[in-house]
Amino acid sequence: MTKKLYYTEPKKLIAKSNWQSDKEPKQIILETSPAYPEGGGQIGDSGTVEQNGKMIKFLDTKKIGTGRKISRDDFPAITVGQNVALILEQEVPSEWDPQEPVIVSVDANKRHSLSRSHTAAHLLWLALGDSYGDLYSKVRGCHIVETRGRFDLLIKKPTNDELREIEAIIQKWVLADHAIEVVTLPDEPECRIWRSAGEDIPCGGTHLESTKGVGSLHLKAKNKGKSGIRVIYELID
Ligand SMILES: [Zn+2]
Repeated sequence: MTKKLYYTEPKKLIAKSNWQSDKEPKQIILETSPAYPEGGGQIGDSGTVEQNGKMIKFLDTKKIGTGRKISRDDFPAITVGQNVALILEQEVPSEWDPQEPVIVSVDANKRHSLSRSHTAAHLLWLALGDSYGDLYSKVRGCHIVETRGRFDLLIKKPTNDELREIEAIIQKWVLADHAIEVVTLPDEPECRIWRSAGEDIPCGGTHLESTKGVGSLHLKAKNKGKSGIRVIYELID
């Protein structure tokens, strides 16, 4: 199983790792990954990977393999213990020696933007919960990219006035600059909980260390038929 440096040392964005090739020629499996794989709606990291002076890009990071399913009362059902693979721009270079480690460098700007966007998603989730009650039974989808994100929810479509009110609630939390910590279940380190201002949200994503860095955002809502209402946030610089 890949050692998940993005959890144990989240600020370490460059790391040496042993690796192995995969059935897929444009993919390598890491022994230690600073790169965060796609999960919980958040897209995967990208960056560069290098050995023997030959550097190539990786375009995405994914979890692969079956892992182990967790089903317990105090946490949503998730799969843990998977391997992490880098999705390369090209096939593994012939110069690379499989017996030697590679150096993986995560794109720091993209990671920061994703952490900001993911933190914004949590503030939106909390603010929507104030208006619509328990969202866990109503959520049908979530997608988080660098500058925006969305939830698909089985709720009544918010009016423009309601969206402005939700924006104001989020802005208040941002300006309060609440600290954010991540705690894990003692016996399951991959079961992670985002915690801020007394609110807990189970989440394995990457986040800022406090709410201020989220800055301002703008909300929109669209009807998506069977998927319910899509609430979209767009981050403003
Ligand atoms: Zn999160």
